[in-house]
Formats: sequence, structure tokens, C-alpha cells
Amino acid sequence: MKIDRITLTHVRIPLVEPFKISNGEVSEKDGILVGVASEGLVGWGEASPMSGGFYSDDTPESVWIHLVEKLIPEILQRKPDSIEEVNALLDGSETSPFARAGLETAFWDLKAQKGNEPLFRTLGGTKGSVESGLAVGIYPTIDKLLAAIERYLGEGYKRVKIKVQPGWDIEPLLAVRGEFGRIPLMVDANCAYTQKDLDHLQAFDDFELIMIEQPLPKEDLEGHAMLQAMVRTPVCLDEGAKDPATVRRAIEMKSCKIVNIKIQRVGGLMHAKEIHDICANAGVPVWAGTMPELGIGGAQTVHLATLPNFAYPTDVESSARWFVDDIIEPLIEVKDGLITIPPGAGNCHMVSESKIKKFEVRKESFS
Ligand SMILES: [Mg+2]
Repeated sequence: MKIDRITLTHVRIPLVEPFKISNGEVSEKDGILVGVASEGLVGWGEASPMSGGFYSDDTPESVWIHLVEKLIPEILQRKPDSIEEVNALLDGSETSPFARAGLETAFWDLKAQKGNEPLFRTLGGTKGSVESGLAVGIYPTIDKLLAAIERYLGEGYKRVKIKVQPGWDIEPLLAVRGEFGRIPLMVDANCAYTQKDLDHLQAFDDFELIMIEQPLPKEDLEGHAMLQAMVRTPVCLDEGAKDPATVRRAIEMKSCKIVNIKIQRVGGLMHAKEIHDICANAGVPVWAGTMPELGIGGAQTVHLATLPNFAYPTDVESSARWFVDDIIEPLIEVKDGLITIPPGAGNCHMVSESKIKKFEVRKESFS
């Protein structure tokens, strides 16, 4: 595969409402769009850390530097000829998973376009739509939380996920169950508790939750195993499921019964598929999380979520749920709780150059 040019564009799009979780708040979404041009086609990927290290140590600025100073020169010099060769090159390069994901997923889009098929077929998926779940952040009051859920539930999302942290857990759960009854419900703590809280976390069993996502620090596989032995509710790893080897170890230690796979966190689609397969072989169902990414990353997550062991709704939501606009056409839309992949090849959502221009912070090309 001949690589003619790689283009990076840093874009920044305002959120429709600020998003607060247990470790911070953001009001704009940054993304670095990676375009790999080859023989008349352009494959698109997205490296999507939040600004200010919201979910991770990586920032848009640090990921830009990884790409410009390290990964792009290596790719242009070594000219990998397949997805496997791209991954071998990236595996050998100590780098940010976000930078890796941006570049690697662009090659998948290119591969699918060259094969004239939608990305989900190239990945091995069969269905053309996936279920979507609603995720809401932490709000200043219970009333505001309930109003946010009420506002979006009308779009038919297949489950509701609320963010929790010490001091904001039992009360909102009681309120949500009281207001909305037996809706499919789960919680995500983004690592906010410690092993000291295990007894407290047992109380979550009273709420018939689909899962408790990442209650403890990401390295604490042992603590998650202790918790899983104490509660009926499945424990799900997110931040802790950082690569295939860690997921294999977590399953052996019985640290979780469910795994959240994020393309950005694991560094691309090949690693995501590997984790999917490890979990499938162990009888552990998975689902597809988001950062959330802009449209390119969101669309790729939808394609990934068509693989057979994805058993719960994805966190990918309508583009309009988070962003005032997006850089893809058509936008991602949830109808009756489902996201349907539009016809086409590759990512199946066109990238709009005029919208990129509108939200561009910085752009650079390499050949
Ligand atoms: Mg999470």
C-alpha cells in the first residue's frame, strides 16, 4: 500500500453541556484527525484524548508531538504494507495509545475502502446496526440529573448509565429507580473508590444494576476480584482493561465479569479485536465504550461493536447528544435506541472538509 501523504488536523468542538465525572469537567472536545492518503483514497482515524488529561495522562498537545516526531516519520520511512505490519511497527514503538489509535484506525478505514466494503465487514462483524445506551455525568443536584435522563430517554436509548463517586451514589440511585422504575441501569465510578469502600459498594447490589463499571483504581485487579467475590452485580473493567495481556490476567484473577473495550484506550482496532477474542474465549461478554470521540472515532466504535461478543449497548450516542456539530456526514443518529451504519465503504461516514475548517486549531501534512 503506497502512502502518498499523512495529514493531521487538531479540531476543537464545543459540547452542548459541560461533562463532569469523578475526576474533572470539560466543555469542549478536542480531537486530532489523521488522514492517510493512498492512491486516490483517504483513510481517516481519530486520536481523541480530552484536553487537560481528563481521562488520561495524554493531552491533544502530547499526542500531536508523538505523532509528528515519532510515529509518522516511522510509518513514512518503513512503509508498512498491511494492518499487521502497521501494528508490528506501532507495537515496537513506545507511544501513547491515543496516538497509536489515530494512526492505526486510519489504515483500517483505508483497507476497508480498498476492499470496497464497510469497516464492520473487514473487522469480521455481520450486523449493520448496534444498540446505544445513554450516559449522563455528575450533576449539581438530583433534580438536574433526573431532568437530563428524562430529556434523552425519549430517544429510546437501551439503557442508562450514571456516573457515581463517594458521596454521590446511593442517593442518585434511589432517585433514578424511584423516578424511572426498572429501566436497564448501570453505574460508572471511573476509579473513584478504594478497597476501603468494598463494604459500601456491596449496597449497589440492591439496585439490580447491569454492572458496576471500574469502581477501583485501574491497577487494582486484586481489589476488583475481592469486590466481585462480594457482590452479585457484575463488575466491569474500563480504565483497567488497558491491553490484551492485562485483560487476560484480570479474567484469570476473576476481577470482572464484563469488559468495556475502548479503541482509544487500547491503541486501535487490532488490539480491540484481540481483547474481544480473549473475552469471547473466556465466556466474558464485552461492550464498546467511548471517550467520547468525535464522529470518526464514534463511527469506528459502532463498526467494532458489531462483533459477536459485544453483548451490551454501546456508549456511542447521537452526535447531537454531545457536540454542537461534528465533522462527519451523515452525523451519528440514534433511532429507537439503535445506531444504523449508513451504506458505503470504510467508516461509511464521509469526513467533511468544510466542517474540519470550521473547527480547525492546527493542521500539518507529511510526505
Ligand atoms: Mg467508564
